[in-house]
Amino acid sequence: MIEENIVNIKQEISQNCTLVVVSKFRTNEEILKVYKTGHKLFAENRVQNLLERYNDLPKDIEWHLIGHLQSNKVKFIAPFIHTIQSVDSVKLLDLINKEAKSNQRTIHCFIQIHIAQEETKFGFSYSESEKLFNEINSLDLSHVNINGIMAMASNTDNQKQVKTEFIELVNWIDDLKQKNSYAAHNIKHISIGMSGDYKLAIACGGNMVRIGSAIFK
Ligand SMILES: *Cc1c(COP(=O)(O)O)cnc(C)c1O
Repeated sequence: MIEENIVNIKQEISQNCTLVVVSKFRTNEEILKVYKTGHKLFAENRVQNLLERYNDLPKDIEWHLIGHLQSNKVKFIAPFIHTIQSVDSVKLLDLINKEAKSNQRTIHCFIQIHIAQEETKFGFSYSESEKLFNEINSLDLSHVNINGIMAMASNTDNQKQVKTEFIELVNWIDDLKQKNSYAAHNIKHISIGMSGDYKLAIACGGNMVRIGSAIFK
């Protein structure tokens, strides 16, 4: 049962780990079952679905976007999106800032880092994101708050591989925070871990998990 699954997962992950319920592919009824347990943080991976959900579901839901965002679609979600976890270019970050500004709000942004072996996944490389943080004072970030890092491990059953990727990322973030004061002050969330690997992600230092199928199974 959905209600049972969410209670169990919340017990499993510690109190200082945030659960983001990934609602893609689910019905509004299923999402409302989760909502009625008191959970208000949900994520979708496509703009079109996000717009429909926002329209159909209670307005106090905190929506996160976790899929690739095309530049021309930022304006549609800017009025309500809480966090865009999938920021994968400086150009996109700049555009999000502009759209947030015209809506007189702040949008939280996570930098998505490509840590998986697959080539198809979006995200900054480590060196690209280091460059971003090095140049951060030259950007207009008046209406965005970069307060997290998001990554997806390789899609593999090889737990050793996944663990290596998570640990490398967490060490990289520690290192970045030593060198960069913006990162040290702002980066709070390490969003790693999905249904198949969230326990490992938390063990490796993640503090936000994005879970869909383990809840709606
Ligand atoms: C779908 C998705 C998830 C959740 O995956 P599950 O295996 O269903 O838990 C997490 N993160 C991203 C980016 C996704 O697209």
